[in-house]
Amino acid sequence: MNRVKNKVAVVTGGAQGIGRATCLIFAKEGAKVAVTDLLEEDGEALVTEIKASGGEAAYWNMNVSNERDVENTMKAVYNHWGPINILVNNAGIAGVNLPTDQVTEEEWDKVMNINVKGVFFCTKHVMPYMKEAGKGSIINLSSIYGLVGAADAPPYHASKGAVRIMSKTDAMIYAPYKIRVNSVHPGYIWTPMVENHLKAQGIDLAEGRKNLDALHPIGHVGEPDDIAYGILYLASDESKFVTGEELVIDGGYVAH
Ligand code: NAD
Repeated sequence: MNRVKNKVAVVTGGAQGIGRATCLIFAKEGAKVAVTDLLEEDGEALVTEIKASGGEAAYWNMNVSNERDVENTMKAVYNHWGPINILVNNAGIAGVNLPTDQVTEEEWDKVMNINVKGVFFCTKHVMPYMKEAGKGSIINLSSIYGLVGAADAPPYHASKGAVRIMSKTDAMIYAPYKIRVNSVHPGYIWTPMVENHLKAQGIDLAEGRKNLDALHPIGHVGEPDDIAYGILYLASDESKFVTGEELVIDGGYVAH
């Protein structure tokens, strides 16, 4: 019940998918949860749901690729609850699925601005408030595609590779402040991102899901809670000696 009791947690892209599951589990485990996203209606509805079951949460509209937005939101969360203990850099987009030679600069930059620069901005601007807390945990959502390649979505895979090494670099830079930084590497998780990715390619959802299931030795794709529980472990003091680490939660995808 109290694995992150009274910790102030900022979750980016918290309104749906893995972010939403993380917000719900954090709240259940006693955290004060800053749900941040661009989807105001979904984010506010999640806050209402959390409060109805006795948890503490508030919503902030924050575009992770806009530095001023990020700076202002971190400050607003601090003013609301005090020092920030946990940051989950979860917001991300899949981007285009085209061979590298057909990707435009604009399409490349769009993915990098959210998936990479967003992690940079949030880490940068949470730092004063996390340092004040005296210790902290930053969890960055990379992917199996931050570990291995695949013949699709080049900007996405590049972005997730970047997030993996950014996590290790920041783990070393901020260790003296007792701020831990780890990356999480999900296999395919059934969320709006994956559904939209399939739809964008004109793939039937049931058929697409079956094909994705087959990629995982365990026989099926994951669900958001599978990842949220890993994030919870890294956010809690149970993982106080874990930093610069890669937590792979993928049904065995990268085991072969
Ligand atoms: P999702 O699309 O279901 O949810 C992502 C959330 O991020 C949405 O609520 C969206 O509104 C928000 N968002 C997008 N751009 C934003 C921006 N500029 N500023 C603020 N919020 C923004 O995605 P998901 O599947 O839950 O993925 C969450 C994270 O996990 C992503 O970083 C993704 O790359 C990573 N991941 C997902 C999978 C998977 O299979 N679902 C696998 C590996 C890694």
